[in-house]
Amino acid sequence: MRFITYNAKNYRDIEYMKYLPEEVKREIDIVSSVIPFKTNNYVVDYLIDWENFRDDPIYVLNFPNKDMLTENQYERVEGVLSGDHSKLDINRVINKIRLEMNPHPAQQMTNVPVLDGEKLEGSQHKYRDIILFFPSQGQTCHAHCTFCFRWPQFIKDLDLKFSMREIEKVVEYIKKNESINEILFTGGDPMVMSPAELSKYIDVLLDTAPSNLTNIRFGSKSLAYWPFTFLPEFSDEAEDMLRLFRRIVEKGKHLSFMAHFNHPVELDNEIVEQAIFNIRQTGAEIRTQAPILNHINNDSGAWARMWKMQIELGLVPYYMFVERETGPYDYFQIPLAEVYQTYQEAIRESGSFAKTLTGPVMSADKGKVHIMGVADNPVTGEKYFIMQYVRHRDYRQTFRPFFMKYDTQATWVDQLTEVVPEEMTVAAGNKQR
Ligand code: SF4
Repeated sequence: MRFITYNAKNYRDIEYMKYLPEEVKREIDIVSSVIPFKTNNYVVDYLIDWENFRDDPIYVLNFPNKDMLTENQYERVEGVLSGDHSKLDINRVINKIRLEMNPHPAQQMTNVPVLDGEKLEGSQHKYRDIILFFPSQGQTCHAHCTFCFRWPQFIKDLDLKFSMREIEKVVEYIKKNESINEILFTGGDPMVMSPAELSKYIDVLLDTAPSNLTNIRFGSKSLAYWPFTFLPEFSDEAEDMLRLFRRIVEKGKHLSFMAHFNHPVELDNEIVEQAIFNIRQTGAEIRTQAPILNHINNDSGAWARMWKMQIELGLVPYYMFVERETGPYDYFQIPLAEVYQTYQEAIRESGSFAKTLTGPVMSADKGKVHIMGVADNPVTGEKYFIMQYVRHRDYRQTFRPFFMKYDTQATWVDQLTEVVPEEMTVAAGNKQR
């Protein structure tokens, strides 16, 4: 199967584009100069319902639209693109808007590990047992999600990317940090690499990594965006990729493929089903994760359906995330109260196999904050979010419930006020007097 990329330059070649109003294409032209835009022939031909494109979740997931910028930002880009402006002026306006869009939420750039005084740019060590590795050839994806928090990595001229080639240094770092037992290959998407490229990294790990490294993870959306990667009948390299997975498992490593699915439609065809089957045959497990997003999957029925399909296919639901405050988050974010309600409705409809799921979770500065529930003070009637860190820079802070004042509008944990239990007692006491 030939992989065809569509981006801001050639998307008008997509056959269905001739049925779309010109104003929609104009919006794509303008917004895609700010937000990275890339899709491919599988997404376009198999996943999008073009008759209903405006409300189609996968269209929204890949194609930029006007509402993803503020009115002011849209007008500034439109103005500079339509006037007689130099390339320099255009880039200046576009870069300024990108910087307004919080390109590195949760201080992503501050988790860079140091080995013998040298910063290992291209890896991150935030939690004590896991290191993230960004292979330089994997810093793109088969298509780009419009909501993506890693969007600056896809923009060539914005100096905010990080990736590295030297896995050897990471191995040295793992040797010196015995608490690390896991490496996550991430990007972009490491599955955009050929099996030969990926093998170069994996071989070093399998041959030289210390015994404390027991788990290998690949974070990938390839099952949703290009499942042919795992289908030998469609791809010359698929067998090599599956063989690589098998080799990792046979070496005694726990291999987890962290699959990203945003909507049940991504699981609803024989191509992806076969790709999932082939991966599972290698001995790798597949865990699933995705953020809850307005305009894409803000619907408990969609989540319940998605988890049901995943479980039937042998996948393990893992995380439901809250959309981060980056890129066009105004467009995608949902108040936490609503997020929790949607999660609760969906998980109630899901069977016991879905209990492996943790959600909703915010990837915040200090760690991953889990919304465990909403509680009422029986005396005052006040409501609280009950939260805990399921991951924290300081692991001793994990799994300790805390309370935050309930707020129907807040979309992120830093918009909430913490309540200590004594305050609740005092409030209840005052009420009773
Ligand atoms: S596949 Fe993942 S990394 Fe790639 S654009 Fe989508 S969310 Fe971002």
